[in-house]
Amino acid sequence: MSQTNTAPETSAPPVDRQRMDVDVVCVGFGPAMGGFLTTLSRGLLKPDGTPLVESAAAPGLPPQVICYERADDLGFGVSGVVTKGRSIRESYPDLDPAQIPLTAPVTSEKVLYLLDPVGASRRSLGLRVIDHLVRAFKWALPFEKDAVSLPYIPPFLQKHGGLVMSIGQFNQWVASQVLGSGTVQIWPATPVAQPLIENHQVVGVRLMDQGTDRQGKPADGFMPGMDIRAALTVIGDGPVGPIGKQLEDHFGLPDGHHQYDWAVGIKMVVNLREDVDLKPGTVLHTFGYPEPEIFGFMYVHPDRVASLGIFVPSWFDSPVRTAYRYLQHWMMHPYLWRYLEGGTLRSWGAKTLQESGKRGEPFLAGHGYARIGEGSGSTNVLTGSGVDEAWATGRQLAEGVLELLKQKKPFTKENLEQTYVQRRRNSWIETEGHQAEKARDGFHHGVLTGLIGMGLAGFTGGRLNIPGKHQPPHQRLPSVEEYYRGRIAPEEIAKIRQECRAKGLPTHDALMDRCGWPTVPHDGKLLVSHQDALLMGGKVQAPAGYADHVVFLYPNLCEQCGSKICIEICSGQALMPGEKGVPAFDREKCVHCGACQWNCAQPHPSQPGRTNLAFRAGAGGLHSAEN
Ligand SMILES: Cc1cc2nc3c(=O)[nH]c(=O)nc-3n(C[C@H](O)[C@H](O)[C@H](O)COP(=O)(O)OP(=O)(O)OC[C@H]3O[C@@H](n4cnc5c(N)ncnc54)[C@H](O)[C@@H]3O)c2cc1C
Ligand code: SF4
Ligand code: SF4
Repeated sequence: MSQTNTAPETSAPPVDRQRMDVDVVCVGFGPAMGGFLTTLSRGLLKPDGTPLVESAAAPGLPPQVICYERADDLGFGVSGVVTKGRSIRESYPDLDPAQIPLTAPVTSEKVLYLLDPVGASRRSLGLRVIDHLVRAFKWALPFEKDAVSLPYIPPFLQKHGGLVMSIGQFNQWVASQVLGSGTVQIWPATPVAQPLIENHQVVGVRLMDQGTDRQGKPADGFMPGMDIRAALTVIGDGPVGPIGKQLEDHFGLPDGHHQYDWAVGIKMVVNLREDVDLKPGTVLHTFGYPEPEIFGFMYVHPDRVASLGIFVPSWFDSPVRTAYRYLQHWMMHPYLWRYLEGGTLRSWGAKTLQESGKRGEPFLAGHGYARIGEGSGSTNVLTGSGVDEAWATGRQLAEGVLELLKQKKPFTKENLEQTYVQRRRNSWIETEGHQAEKARDGFHHGVLTGLIGMGLAGFTGGRLNIPGKHQPPHQRLPSVEEYYRGRIAPEEIAKIRQECRAKGLPTHDALMDRCGWPTVPHDGKLLVSHQDALLMGGKVQAPAGYADHVVFLYPNLCEQCGSKICIEICSGQALMPGEKGVPAFDREKCVHCGACQWNCAQPHPSQPGRTNLAFRAGAGGLHSAEN
């Protein structure tokens, strides 16, 4: 059910809470936490099976380690599919891909430049000239079905020797190994609401209150979230994790760091037709279409299952950047459609990526806490890789933690810096992170400049690049009128806006139709409406009794907001036009991707780097471990 949400910024009622003491409490179970718990659980026991050290929280027992995952089951909240898996293989030197569902070694790779077969995408003059030349000389090029396959894949993009995986399946497999050790606990369906901070020291976390209304106020069956106090809090809550964000609000970011680069990733897992003969391990990467700024991927798993999707980056300056419809046009590109036509949707999902990488790196450790994974700036935008990097940071932290436990040293900022942060600084994560740091800056000037900048950075190990200006959405996004100047007259935009609002709809479909994007011929199997994707592919659920996690902090700013881009971008149609100009949030359609928070067009009045839309801890979301 939809309703306007105007919850205040803090809604925690003053109540008595239960308390539990453990040694290490962990937030989120993605690849980063998989790496952490795998390494930690193995080191907590001596070879003779006795505990490495005694628990400080529960004397007489082994160290108490507990991990809380927000999503309703393990592997429901993650994404990612092709990885070189260097760090993962170090953890599992005898890894047999056949043990993990949907996993296959990479067998072939292609990078494809997709031309626009429908004439609707917004291409610069430079790209139009390139397209013209490609078509004119197609007889001399590896040209097929409106696409050119790059004759050479730069080494930094190659995935040879890596694995095509479903990270959902991989995470479930990792969890079974970790839980089998008996040294750690992992609790899904348990969102962490906030870090507990006392005198600038993190002393644990608070779980979300249950039995509340949508504003977080106690209702029937109210059960205050428990306080879990721990000597060490490990945060691996991903790119939009609310615990990491609260720590950044409290401790700030290191000087000069920002998180203005991100992408919305939207994907499907598809059963291919019986006659499709793509080999498991096939990797296709695309650029150029449906808009030049949008990258795409298709990876083939065993048993004719494919993962495919697109990334809509922050530097795609469209104020109506709907990812779902663009995904469908991308799938219908002739190069891909010959494989996808007749396929069936198995699963669908969306998630955002923190693409500022090292420049978005927060403080990695402080008194009582450490951060790992994408939320700690580990994702590499040059190589398009986040899973293995996240895993590696988790491993590095675990090695540091085991060292401190053995030496009976406390988890102070200094000790964590000497053990964890130093390990990370001395590793390939740091070296490659630096190489990637400025690799995509050129995209701030356009796609061609961006590709040249990426090549420069890739081939010179990051020494050369094309600089770019990083700006938050409210500074860089043009108005709808500016974006469509020369294509749709302002009066017509006003009319389209009015008609859509009267029907309670976002405007992106009408604007894309008007720009010549063809109607998507729904087939009920693969090309389905956004609503059907939610039901068939995402199986989104939202348990009652939790506060809303998408909150419009200052509704008056929403009233004045012209683009209402949160509605246009929403991956799940969970945000729709609402009363008095404030969007309506429907939790039962929210896939927890966080796109609305990154994209919000209004800055937070007093918190630099934050927007008017708060993405807080929340329950539910996708019910699929295939992404
Ligand atoms: C469409 C798409 C395709 C991708 N493809 C690739 C690829 O091919 N190769 C690659 O290497 N990378 C890829 N990535 C990136 C990769 O998925 C990430 O870099 C990686 O998942 C980061 O791991 P993580 O453990 O840091 O965070 P996440 O995987 O985001 O895991 C964080 C976990 O924390 C949980 N969490 C969040 N908040 C809370 C809370 N309050 N309480 C409890 N739990 C919480 C989340 O539910 C989630 O399970 C892709 C990403 C997307 C979106
Ligand atoms: S984009 Fe931000 S300010 Fe505008 S309507 Fe959405 S939440 Fe409100
Ligand atoms: S409302 Fe939910 S589904 Fe929509 S953009 Fe925000 S997080 Fe994603």
